[in-house]
Amino acid sequence: MPLRNRRRLTADGAELLPGDPLTELKGIGPKSAEALSAEGVNTVLDLLLHLPRRYEDRTRVTSLDQRLESGSWVLLRGRVKGVRLRRIPRRRMSIVDGFVDDGRGNLKVVWFNHRWIHTRLADEPELYLYGQVREARGGSLQLVNPEIEEVTDEAARIVPVYRRLGRFGGRRLRRLIEQCLPLVDDCRDPLPEAIRRKFELPTLNDALRELHEPSLPEDHENRIRALEELDRGGSEYHLRLAFDELFAFACAMGLRRAARSTCVPSKVDTSVVDARRVRELLPFTLTAAQQKVLSEIRSDLGGGTPMARLVQGDVGSGKTVVAALAMLMVLDSRHQVAFMAPTELLAEQHARTLSGFLGAAGHTVHQLAGSLPAAERRRVREGLEDGTVRLVVGTHALFQESVTFQNLGLVVVDEQHRFGVTQRQALAEKGKAPHLLVMTATPIPRSLALTVYGDLDLSVIDELPPGRRPVRTHLRFEDSRPKVIDFVREEVAAGGRVFVVYPIIDVSDEIEAAALTEHEESVREALPGVGVEVLHGRLDRASREEAISRFREGSVQVLLATTVVEVGVDVPEASLIIIESAQRFGLSQLHQLRGRVGRGERQAWCVLMAGEGLGEEARRRLEVMCSTNDGFEIAEADLEFRGPGELTGVRQWGPAGFRFANLFRDRDLINLTKDLATDCQSVGKLEKLLEALGTYHRVDIGWAGD
Ligand code: ADP
Ligand code: MG
Repeated sequence: MPLRNRRRLTADGAELLPGDPLTELKGIGPKSAEALSAEGVNTVLDLLLHLPRRYEDRTRVTSLDQRLESGSWVLLRGRVKGVRLRRIPRRRMSIVDGFVDDGRGNLKVVWFNHRWIHTRLADEPELYLYGQVREARGGSLQLVNPEIEEVTDEAARIVPVYRRLGRFGGRRLRRLIEQCLPLVDDCRDPLPEAIRRKFELPTLNDALRELHEPSLPEDHENRIRALEELDRGGSEYHLRLAFDELFAFACAMGLRRAARSTCVPSKVDTSVVDARRVRELLPFTLTAAQQKVLSEIRSDLGGGTPMARLVQGDVGSGKTVVAALAMLMVLDSRHQVAFMAPTELLAEQHARTLSGFLGAAGHTVHQLAGSLPAAERRRVREGLEDGTVRLVVGTHALFQESVTFQNLGLVVVDEQHRFGVTQRQALAEKGKAPHLLVMTATPIPRSLALTVYGDLDLSVIDELPPGRRPVRTHLRFEDSRPKVIDFVREEVAAGGRVFVVYPIIDVSDEIEAAALTEHEESVREALPGVGVEVLHGRLDRASREEAISRFREGSVQVLLATTVVEVGVDVPEASLIIIESAQRFGLSQLHQLRGRVGRGERQAWCVLMAGEGLGEEARRRLEVMCSTNDGFEIAEADLEFRGPGELTGVRQWGPAGFRFANLFRDRDLINLTKDLATDCQSVGKLEKLLEALGTYHRVDIGWAGD
């Protein structure tokens, strides 16, 4: 019986609807619902929008009497025998291995750092194994880190494979989503029929159904082609969802532009910061790029509508300095300024830098962070309300309902990509029409930035202050760890400081990566007499501050950290950064991390440590880092590598955190939907469209209808 004719009943017999909470589903109690909620899945519809990551054609299992090619991805069906678990304490890793026997032949299989697999394999269940065949040292073939799933009496068919949602994965998650599938018919198509037809898009119902339960053509060749298309995320059904998502975004942008054009900005006298004042305040001269951006800001601040500008520039290009000058113009014009940073660590650091500079110009910097004592927070909030506090630096705490400003003139947001547009909008709405300046070091290719940040004007600082030497980057493997440690010793002896960055804090069964706490002891042992300290998000504020300040003044020379240091931690003596399990990071993120060193006079170095079992593609990715320091080039490469199919990889890229759209693949769609939204003209029409599309696409762009 086709799924769509099944009765749509909840556990207690009532009719199930797309907006229903997950507890209405069979097998989902409050606990499970909570776990799923932590993954952002709250309703039946959310589950329907959780698309398969890939598809397995289980009618086409590779048989082990065939010749396998190194590099190919295969689906096997068999039992894993001769299973061993080995721990290699020296390398801090575990290896589970054995061989797959499918009755016709066998193949070596190995999992790195997946200890839990050992138990799963104990009684040799029959499994599907999906993974890549690689050449081991010595030339024999092996299957590396395959995904596994037990064979059940389900008929072999096209099986959608979903990204895990917390502890829900594999067949269990698939069953859950299957339960929801009949509801696809209840999903109202948010797209006007005329538009859908014009662009020959499938209906939303068809798209969702076909994505979860593809009906592939019968003949072999077309079937393979269709499956490949689905696997790449390049089917017309994927396109439909991407279209809707981008259209929703474009409508929201259109509304925002419309709103801004009717706003009256705070009056700013930009002449208070003239060339002479800049010379007096700064110990250096601005680069030509900084000057150009400053003059763009100057004309925005003096203009008839509120500024909304994105300043893009590589780490260390001097964005903050330019922002500080803009802040000074606004402060001297008797308006308040709010400066937002994505983490407390960064907020603290900005507060310190700004205190020096703006302090000299007679302004006091206040901080508002969630971890400050309540009394202190209240004092700052009251000051913001009565106007005695004019300049505040903070984190998300600035968005809280209870914060009101007397006269907010400028909002500066650092590191845009960490902030949802909604959040910065929420703050903007706290004043009447404050100017907005957004800084980002994520070098999004210009063509993309213009379309994605459609509501912001764009400035680029494409020049570094003079005298900077590019960071030298090397890729290293486990066997050169002793040499890397020697290098750390040398750098420290020569007065340098060293960051070691880990992708995770604790050892995990699910993520194959070096963990900070696991390495800590051996690093300390290997570096007697060297001050080693740790820094991660789980430490309390005081410990974090202490670690940073000891690193800054030099009693700590080696800082083991997580990506909390990604943005901003500014220590000129830092000359070496070692990034563990570097393949775990995106290129843009690695570039950010690398920006932590090379801020001083010394030659700076970046060592990318690659974990065991580094794939060919991952290796090429990391080699990009070694070959260039140009953020824009890296951004292009990043986009390309994430490319089609990696639907989740784009998160970091846009302000909107697109789920379905891929900014590289869908460049054309971005422009097309933007034009469509522009054609809409009336605000009412845009609002209606956005409302309909918003049922399915959480567009992270704030819009208050008033
Ligand atoms: P960004 O915010 O783009 O990362 P910053 O504004 O924090 O960059 O500047 C990085 C460092 O370079 C700071 O120490 C700053 O004082 C210094 N700097 C900024 N502009 C110049 C310049 N034109 N000449 C020399 N040093 C500069
Ligand atoms: Mg900065």
